Amino acid sequence: MKHCPNDECPDLVKYDIVAEFEDDVTVCSKCGTSLKLKLWVLPS
Ligand SMILES: [Zn+2]
Repeated sequence: MKHCPNDECPDLVKYDIVAEFEDDVTVCSKCGTSLKLKLWVLPS
């Protein structure tokens, strides 16, 4: 998965959820920011 790194992405502002995308998508469909690979690890 990739995610949108934009702190002002409409989805993040509106829903407090970082938008996620399939690996073949290169830019956020909401704000047009280049996507980043998801690197963080969920706390266990
Ligand atoms: Zn975005």
